Amino acid sequence: MKFIFDDHFKELKKLSRLSRLILLSFTLTFLTVLLGSTFALYQNWNIGLELTKSDLLKNAELGSYLIERNVINILKTLDTTKEKLESSIQTKTFNPQTVAGVLSQSLHDVNNYSSSDFLGLQLVIDKTGALIARSDGKSTENINYIDRYYFFNLKNNKNLNRTIGPLLISRTTNEWVFHVAVPIHDTKGDFFGVLAQQVIETEIINELKKYADIKSFDLMINQFDGIDASFIYPLPDTPNSPSIEELSRLGHMINQLHAKSGFELFQSIETNNQQIMIGFSHSPIFNMLTFVSVPLERLVERFLLKNAYLFTYIVLGFLFVSTLFYYLFCISVDLAASNNKSLTDPLTGLSNRRALDERIHPFLRDSMRTREPISVLFADIDLFRNFNELYGHEFGDVVLHEVAMALASCCKRPMDFVCRWGGEEFVAILPNTNGVAAAQVSQAMLESVRSLSPIFNSKPTRSITISVGYVTCVMNSKNMGIDLIDLADHAMQEAKNRGRNQAFQHPSDAALNES
Ligand code: GH3
Ligand code: MG
Ligand code: MG
Repeated sequence: MKFIFDDHFKELKKLSRLSRLILLSFTLTFLTVLLGSTFALYQNWNIGLELTKSDLLKNAELGSYLIERNVINILKTLDTTKEKLESSIQTKTFNPQTVAGVLSQSLHDVNNYSSSDFLGLQLVIDKTGALIARSDGKSTENINYIDRYYFFNLKNNKNLNRTIGPLLISRTTNEWVFHVAVPIHDTKGDFFGVLAQQVIETEIINELKKYADIKSFDLMINQFDGIDASFIYPLPDTPNSPSIEELSRLGHMINQLHAKSGFELFQSIETNNQQIMIGFSHSPIFNMLTFVSVPLERLVERFLLKNAYLFTYIVLGFLFVSTLFYYLFCISVDLAASNNKSLTDPLTGLSNRRALDERIHPFLRDSMRTREPISVLFADIDLFRNFNELYGHEFGDVVLHEVAMALASCCKRPMDFVCRWGGEEFVAILPNTNGVAAAQVSQAMLESVRSLSPIFNSKPTRSITISVGYVTCVMNSKNMGIDLIDLADHAMQEAKNRGRNQAFQHPSDAALNES
């Protein structure tokens, strides 16, 4: 892994400054866009969450108000009707026919109060649980309510003056209903029976559809006094309704909410590994809780749907920016390659004179700044014209390349610079190199070229030698104008004059370093 990274790092270092700048700009742009879009999406998620919360609360309060208002009206009427029935017990006029008449009148009254068609039948049950009268006057034979929650609860609990709920299928009409029930007492104040009003679930749902945004929640439950739910939307036998287990789990959950004091706005509860959000409302009048719920999954779906355009813009933006930067990067790499080409000698692969012109001044300035010596070497192949004449220009080129490689191999430090000056002449610039070291490098160059043994037509050629002239100097403000390459060239000429195949140090060294 380390090696791979190292390779990449080396590659990156090889890139031009422009390419690296483009990569850096791309990374910064990418990070900025990423940060911006994450923030925008985060904000949108929060806005969506807040909207859902207020939606849930609004719907819970609406459901709560709807049921509460109607139960109040029912209880008012039931109290009046109950008084009528109790006085008929007193006057001994209590019989199924008169009771049915009273119930019918009572239902008529309560319908006047209420604007909806919530109400089913009104029933009177005697203390054995037998139905003795119903508001539609129909037969009551063989209908018994002894097992109904409201009946046995009112019978067994003298302090109870009403019960509301739970949800059940009516034995008279076969509809989903809950009952609002009050006890009837005889003249001695003993339990005589129950007066009950059916509330029709489908009618509450119809009413809800008129006022509430029914699509914004999955489930609405309403319950009184901590007993089983009295209203459930959707109804238990419809396709999207919760299962019995789900209902009992939710019932348990409702009790937990109910146990909490005061009014809590929202809770997120984990069920079946799924988060559901609920908004609930406690009635200020009854011990009644209404809640609506929506799975968090739905919220995520809505969020994705609503932000689809944003996602598309982000992806398109990323694609656009990436493509743009990719093209800029390619152009910068091409530019660097052609720039590199213009600084390279095609025959030898070494730097050319143009590169030298660019590099020499920084080298000289560095020497002045660091007060370290700099050495310049000038190498020229001996009698190369003859060599060309003997073996041809083409083979001369091959040897010229070999000599170039031999010279370059002698300049080992990373800052050493070797170039082809022109023809069969080469220049090396060695920063931080004194005269002794320059003499060593010159000797190494002489030996390295001498050891070349080019083969022409399967036979070794005439040996190749070079003459080297070098100059060493610590640059300062006075000697900055001196042409070190010219001095090295002169020294090289002196090496030629002295018989070639040797190195010569420019004699003005001492003078240069003193100045
Ligand atoms: P000296 O030892 O005095 O330097 O003798 P010389 O023959 O090397 O010097 P001169 O300046 O007279 O000739 C330089 C020769 O180098 C001329 C040419 O044949 C050869 N030469 C220059 N450039 C190239 C090149 O690119 N390819 C080849 N094959 N030969 C070249
Ligand atoms: Mg020459
Ligand atoms: Mg020559």
